[in-house]
Amino acid sequence: MAGEPQPDCLFCKIVAGEIPATVVRRTEDTIAFRDIHPQAPTHVLVIPRVHHPNAAALAAAEPAVAAELLTEAGEVAAAEGITDYRLIFNTGAGAGQTVFHAHVHLLGGEPLREGLV
Ligand code: AMP
Ligand code: ZN
Repeated sequence: MAGEPQPDCLFCKIVAGEIPATVVRRTEDTIAFRDIHPQAPTHVLVIPRVHHPNAAALAAAEPAVAAELLTEAGEVAAAEGITDYRLIFNTGAGAGQTVFHAHVHLLGGEPLREGLV
């Protein structure tokens, strides 16, 4: 069923506490933790507890939870003391997605290089 934990999903295992993570915030519906390979001084992933393969699928199925990812990204940025940051939702392997459980990257803490956007 949509939203159910997937046995081979890394982020479902983090939600379940089966794989450790450096958690910075939790809500009833989301968890925020530090990326294991940080690309900036602040690099936090905000994920829903429910499993959906990407952000658009999450938004279609559970729009309130998708909105909460953005709210939580803002809360993490505030807690980290940063006002300038970038939010990234990679969708599909061709765009660099490697974990197929919806997540947003929060990157900041230094001037960010201008890339494709
Ligand atoms: P994406 O490439 O958009 O799918 O992002 C997946 C992110 O998960 C990458 O930036 C990885 O560095 C990160 N990652 C993979 N395994 C872990 C882990 N065990 N704990 C924290 N972050 C992880
Ligand atoms: Zn999952």
